[in-house]
Amino acid sequence: MRKISTAFAALALGAFALLQSAQAQDKGLVAVSMPTKSSARWIDDGNNMVKALKEKGYTVDLQYADDDIPNQLAQIENMITKGSKVLVIAAIDGTTLSDALQQAADKGIKVIAYDRLIRNSKNVDYYATFDNFQVGVLQGGYIEKALGLKEGKGPFNIELFGGSPDDNNAYFFYNGAMSVLEPYIKSGKLKVASGQTGMEKVSTLRWDGAVAQSRMDNLLSAFYTDKRVDAVLSPYDGLSIGIISSLKGVGYGTPKQPMPVITGQDAEVPSVKSILAKEQTQTVFKDTRELAKVTANMVDALLTGKTVEVNDTKTYENGVKTVPSYLLKPVNVDASNWKDALVTSGYYKEDQIK
Ligand code: BGC
Repeated sequence: MRKISTAFAALALGAFALLQSAQAQDKGLVAVSMPTKSSARWIDDGNNMVKALKEKGYTVDLQYADDDIPNQLAQIENMITKGSKVLVIAAIDGTTLSDALQQAADKGIKVIAYDRLIRNSKNVDYYATFDNFQVGVLQGGYIEKALGLKEGKGPFNIELFGGSPDDNNAYFFYNGAMSVLEPYIKSGKLKVASGQTGMEKVSTLRWDGAVAQSRMDNLLSAFYTDKRVDAVLSPYDGLSIGIISSLKGVGYGTPKQPMPVITGQDAEVPSVKSILAKEQTQTVFKDTRELAKVTANMVDALLTGKTVEVNDTKTYENGVKTVPSYLLKPVNVDASNWKDALVTSGYYKEDQIK
């Protein structure tokens, strides 16, 4: 008798859970527009967003746009037509979506800018991202420490790389890094042998590693035949990989001619491996699981009439309005703490790296 009633209770519980999940499935369609699959971080972002939204009971339409602006625009227009209730967008070019977002607003669809701010539109309701200025501060600060600049060491030679000029984040990364490095450039402790400073000179369209590699090739052959590069500010792992290939091509990466200090961002697997191989020096880890969680909470709050949680209402002016934002903390990673930051936290399994 007892067995039967336990079985019955289990059945009832199962049915209840099924009913709950059926109800949970009913919360509506949320669209997630991602820029590209060419970098692992965006694949993780997409997967994490689907997981976080599904757990809250939403159906998710996830699209990747192959870093092609018209493609992303068409995908977003389609998402609007399909009846999405919220658009979560990581823009390729943050300035080109105004018309589509107006269409969305006209239909009462809310818009969350994901990781990258969408510019020039009043129809951006919220922004979920990391503290992008701080990302740059971590990169610049790492170079400062590794070279011993605070202790007065130098002069050293440095070259600067920036991200894509159509990505608002690229300016925050660059400005954050320069807030640390600029005083040393002014005092002569850091020398930019190429003289190329400022985003208009150092940016890298579409964050393309091949573009960074060929710019580094040019810098090395034009300015470094008789001197060494001691540091390279790189804002993203994918660029660092290109820069490192270029450096290897002219003989860096040996005990006699070690690699310069090279920064990065995203803690992508090939770059963490490169750090352990003493090629890249540092990266910035941004836990995309947390970003997905924050964004999914925003979506849910918007659709259930709750207050949307933000922690910054001043920083992200998009040309038309200041977008209320939630900023997460980026984390410095190098050979000394990669295990704690990336493996203990469960982001990667150790055998993915070693
Ligand atoms: C992101 C970075 C990423 C870069 C290139 C930026 O908008 O914030 O994490 O490295 O795009 O994909």
